[in-house]
Amino acid sequence: MRGVTAFDTSEAWAREQDAFDPLHAYRERFCIPPTASDDESIYFCGNSLGLMPRRAFEIVEQELDAWGSMGVDAHFKQDGPWFSYHELVREPLARLVGGLSHEVVAMNTLTTNLHLMMVSFYRPTRERHKILMEPTAFPSDTYAMQTQLAWHGFDAATGVLVPHGREGADSVVDDDIETMLDQRGDEIALVLLGGVNYYSGRRYDIRRIAAAARARGIVIGVDLAHAVGNVPLALHDWDVDFAVWCSYKYLNAGPGAVAGCFVHERHARNRELTRFGGWWGNDPGTRFRMHLEETFVPVSTADAWQLSNPSVFGLAPLRASLELFETAGMEALRSKSERLTAYLEAWVDHAAPGVEILTPREPDARGAQLSLFVRDNSEHLFDRLKKAGLVADYRRPDVIRLAPVPLYNSFHDVWRLGRVFEELG
Ligand SMILES: *Cc1c(COP(=O)(O)O)cnc(C)c1O
Repeated sequence: MRGVTAFDTSEAWAREQDAFDPLHAYRERFCIPPTASDDESIYFCGNSLGLMPRRAFEIVEQELDAWGSMGVDAHFKQDGPWFSYHELVREPLARLVGGLSHEVVAMNTLTTNLHLMMVSFYRPTRERHKILMEPTAFPSDTYAMQTQLAWHGFDAATGVLVPHGREGADSVVDDDIETMLDQRGDEIALVLLGGVNYYSGRRYDIRRIAAAARARGIVIGVDLAHAVGNVPLALHDWDVDFAVWCSYKYLNAGPGAVAGCFVHERHARNRELTRFGGWWGNDPGTRFRMHLEETFVPVSTADAWQLSNPSVFGLAPLRASLELFETAGMEALRSKSERLTAYLEAWVDHAAPGVEILTPREPDARGAQLSLFVRDNSEHLFDRLKKAGLVADYRRPDVIRLAPVPLYNSFHDVWRLGRVFEELG
């Protein structure tokens, strides 16, 4: 087990790990929701909605104050002018996804961005219009692909290709995806891959799949909803065409927060691409000439895909969260994450009754999440875990997803859950 030398079930051991954890102080920067009995909950749901950074209050309040005291002039205020508010998160986001700064833009929400990317990068022909996705993809992505196929006049039911694993849907690995690219590459226009699958917690080798797709002339887009802020990413070097993500999961920016988008430089600089335009994608040099500019001239960066002026209140909490990522650093986070997840894995193996881990065992093939398949009475088990203070996600009919998040979860959190499993067993 990488990172955890010997499994120790004592509370003292867990406390000691926290005492020596260089990131432990970050927990205090978040609001941890209390349980009914006013303890801190065991919050393992950061893969669904990340906790609120305390500084989000302050930053949102600043913007409310600016609105109240300055009105329209806040667009040009000194400290973080609203007209370029999205610029404040560009660099930290670029570092998190491994993109150049002009390849990254914060805008809209995830599924909206996915559709906007499809306008430019899904250019199907009759011979080549299929879309390859991983199994158990997030429903919103599947709906986006099906409706894009239909919009282009193709059959949604046969247009999406999903590889089969040797042991069923949950077992599809990089090899299976590559085999399908080998066998059916000529029909495939686009690969849309989740960096980390929402359901199984499996992490795909994006570099490898991107190389395999591009070698066959296939566009590759990545959905990083469960990967950004969770695992290290290098989108520019991996040479993916585009990527999208949301900011309310591991990025802790709050419900409906402004999402993000990556467009590789080779496309970002290309003003000739087909796209939908709006005034915020226009060259900022002429944007405010308004009706005097009759022709859309896209700026030669990822910003060209922006349509509207930035959603300030949807971006403000993201600033608070990104400050923490900047100081903690993804390398330290990942290193703690591997240990924390391995510790949870050891507890599940040791104490969880009738539970099987669906997520890969190899640390490189997963992020912070473990998905537990519960053979019998999963709903009953989940209820009892909830009563003991766990906040996590239950997927009918039989899967519980747990995400120990290195930015705010502790070894003691995992120990508490381990003890609950032991007591129930
Ligand atoms: C969470 C998630 C979404 C959510 O989409 P929104 O447009 O932000 O509501 C989409 N795709 C994946 C893979 C997700 O994990």
